[in-house]
Amino acid sequence: GEYSHRVDLKGGDEMTQLAEEFNELTGRLQTTEEVRRRFVSDASHELKTPLASIRLLTDSILQAEHMDDATAREFLGDIGEEAERLTRITEKLLTLTRLDTAPPVERTAVDVKRVVEKVEHMLAPLARAVEVSLVCDLEEGAWVWATQDDLYQIAFNLMENAVKYNLPGGMVRVTLQGQGDAVVLCVEDTGVGIPEEDLPKIFDRFYRVDKARSRAAGGTGLGLSIVRDTARQHRGTVTVRRREPAGTCFAVTFPRCREKGGEQP
Ligand code: ADP
Repeated sequence: GEYSHRVDLKGGDEMTQLAEEFNELTGRLQTTEEVRRRFVSDASHELKTPLASIRLLTDSILQAEHMDDATAREFLGDIGEEAERLTRITEKLLTLTRLDTAPPVERTAVDVKRVVEKVEHMLAPLARAVEVSLVCDLEEGAWVWATQDDLYQIAFNLMENAVKYNLPGGMVRVTLQGQGDAVVLCVEDTGVGIPEEDLPKIFDRFYRVDKARSRAAGGTGLGLSIVRDTARQHRGTVTVRRREPAGTCFAVTFPRCREKGGEQP
């Protein structure tokens, strides 16, 4: 590969150590390079699928001997949906690229409670439509040094998933708590759950447990990677566990920023 340089030095202890460190670093660069390649290849594949559908749908309209208006409109509607899907994927890819490369912008002390309330408001119609009750129990005084939009994205992705991968009559409970020097946001649902063996993989880009269900819900398999990368940028961590007897529980932990206008922690 591109990083195949190895140094074999014999002799002094310091030189040996230097050689070992160099080789270890080279190995890591190679892994990063592989991850990058894999990402580009996965992304291309994800973009190809809707493009192929659009191609097929346009061909069937163009090649039909006769097509009534209703059928043509239906096909055009499908083309529109595939185009929307492409938009969602590219937007998320851009977000991930930005998280990878750009330095974080405009951090301020953000009141996480306000952010979660906005998400709750946004998701209320969806929750009602699928008969899932969305309950929030949010503590005052949970401030985080953050980019407001990024926090919104984290809360939105987790809460939307909790509603999307739920069942009629199910529940989503969101709690926000200050715990010492940390702020913990928990999103717990009574939904379809994630098999134990899939748990370590769900933060990977494009990974879905149930492809059909994700697709039907307009998913891209990128939401949780964005959550993880964004949390990391804010020196936060994300954990996931199965909930008994059913469902899933995600927790995001951030360093706490004591008060409004407080200093960067
Ligand atoms: P998607 O766009 O497919 O929702 P995500 O990255 O947000 O992608 O999530 C990855 C996969 O993890 C989903 O496709 C789904 O299979 C699973 N998943 C995420 N959140 C939940 C949840 N709350 N309950 C059950 N499964 C979930």
